[in-house]
Amino acid sequence: MRLLLVADLHYSLPQFDWVVDIADSFDVVVMAGDHLDIASLVDGRAQVVVVRKYFNRLRAKTRLMICSGNHDLDVKNESGERIAKWLGATRQEGVLSDGESLAIDDTLFTACPWWDGPLVRARIAAQLAEAAARRIGRWIWIHHAPPAKSPTSWGGDRFFGDNELREWIEQYRPDIVLSGHVHQSPFVKDGSWVDRIGSTWVFNAGQQFGAPPTHVIVDTGQGEALWFSSAGNQFVRLDDPLERPVPKLTTLPDWLKAVDRPPLQGLA
Ligand SMILES: [Zn+2]
Ligand SMILES: [Zn+2]
Repeated sequence: MRLLLVADLHYSLPQFDWVVDIADSFDVVVMAGDHLDIASLVDGRAQVVVVRKYFNRLRAKTRLMICSGNHDLDVKNESGERIAKWLGATRQEGVLSDGESLAIDDTLFTACPWWDGPLVRARIAAQLAEAAARRIGRWIWIHHAPPAKSPTSWGGDRFFGDNELREWIEQYRPDIVLSGHVHQSPFVKDGSWVDRIGSTWVFNAGQQFGAPPTHVIVDTGQGEALWFSSAGNQFVRLDDPLERPVPKLTTLPDWLKAVDRPPLQGLA
């Protein structure tokens, strides 16, 4: 299974266009939250209309999976917690979204919402407990915030990660956690796009301006995960221990050359 992870597009239309262009090279495209930008000059509801159109274009080309980020929250729930109602599962037909799990072959995907308070946090705990019972082989989580005390949530002077997520990872040991949120983590000293907590691989693609967005390509058949950014490219082998410094990716692997249509920065 070949998977593309992006996050934190923050209503960057050139980045959305890039994802649409490349989408059919992947079995699964994951957009791990912060689709919208609350600081944008464009009204939030207008952003929703445009982003929904992109979701529709993407799901026509591939299997799209999304979750909410802290920039995507549009209403409050019965407890006064902010939630992203507009991208809730019932409103995104054919797209895996907040609160849902889906099995594809031997891989179970679980998309978690951004949690703003105890009600949604308890729902995620229940969602993970329910999904754990359905686990068949590989388990991949989509959760906007990366875990606490991880290079993937290091902001340069402190961690911005999620304590509960870290506990859930330690409890359930998923194979892979796909996140975003802490834009600078891959680019700052002691930060990274990749981490390992026990046997779990954690990825945070980071964020840069313009197209292409920073992105991670995971190929489970090849057993590799590759990170692409304007600051350089790196890779890990999923069956090997994580080594630091993480090896640089200097040439595209043959399996990616064959499918990756738009040129990737800095690589032949
Ligand atoms: Zn963000
Ligand atoms: Zn965020």
